[in-house]
Amino acid sequence: MNAPFLHIDRPAAGPTVRPQDGTATVALIVPVHNEEAAIGPFLRAVCASIDPLKETFELIFVNDGSTDATLERLIEAQRADPRIQVIDLSRNFGKEAAMTAGLDCCDADAAIPIDVDLQDPPHVIPLLIEKWREGFEVVLAKRTDRSSDSFVKQRSASMFYRVHNWIAQQKIPHDVGDFRLVDRQVIEALRALPERRRFMKGLFAWVGFRTATVEYVRDQRIAGQSKFSGWKLWNFALEGITSFSTAPLEIWTYVGAVISALSFLYGLVIVAKTMVFGVDVPGYASLLVSVLFLGGIQLLGIGIIGQYLGRVYAEIKQRPIYIVRRTFGGTG
Ligand code: UDP
Ligand code: MG
Repeated sequence: MNAPFLHIDRPAAGPTVRPQDGTATVALIVPVHNEEAAIGPFLRAVCASIDPLKETFELIFVNDGSTDATLERLIEAQRADPRIQVIDLSRNFGKEAAMTAGLDCCDADAAIPIDVDLQDPPHVIPLLIEKWREGFEVVLAKRTDRSSDSFVKQRSASMFYRVHNWIAQQKIPHDVGDFRLVDRQVIEALRALPERRRFMKGLFAWVGFRTATVEYVRDQRIAGQSKFSGWKLWNFALEGITSFSTAPLEIWTYVGAVISALSFLYGLVIVAKTMVFGVDVPGYASLLVSVLFLGGIQLLGIGIIGQYLGRVYAEIKQRPIYIVRRTFGGTG
């Protein structure tokens, strides 16, 4: 397991251009959490886009601890359409875990994670597949227009990408969500990553492979509410940064070094002044300001260590990423 490298190759290394004779299978991975109203319209829109294609499709829905009638809707849909498979998780594990569950059970030649609220428009699927047929292993769907998101969400997302890409070694592409096509080889690579806290956008970028990009306009949600509040998004951003960069931890070496150097110089100044002008009682204000400032900096540094330590703790417990309660349809 701890091999220094991972070699993922197809059993029969054929031509890179994929077969177009209907033998290739593509799975849509759909994480759902309280989306009873979105499932019907989603299936209609998706079928309209995928039915004309030559590939064989599977639809893997991962019910991420919904408390409404989502599971019932999914089971009904599964009875009507054998291409559908439903993985029911034992509780809400979050979108990243749900997507991981879907990818883990998918044995198709390619997978496309897609949101059920039609914000990832199904008419882009044929474009993704077209690039995949050309031989690309990853096809990203990039949002050219985010006006369906609120102003605050647009600003904070853009700031997140900038900060993340500035300090993380592995850059994640701007305005690309989880909606993308990944080839079997990429799925295998993702499966081989042992981490429990899964920031999928980062993991997708980390595994690499030959990548193409298609562009689309992000629509409004068709039904229900976004599951990502401001606080959840903030934590998601922290997860991304701490998963892929240790710069916030290491910067304290330099902050500490600069403050120590300045303190040393200031110490020399005080000693020199005392020797020249005799004992002087320094100002109360400067003392208080420096104590408070250094106290704040130290707490910040400890807080950041805490962020990483918490994640190390979560990883080291080695709990499973998700628990499957039951599966409906498919081979499971
Ligand atoms: N989702 C999930 N588990 C969660 C939260 C969301 O499976 O804990 C699913 C949700 O049902 C949807 C997708 O993730 O299919 C994207 O969620 P949402 O539309 O709320 O996110 P946004 O588009 O606002 O970023
Ligand atoms: Mg959405």
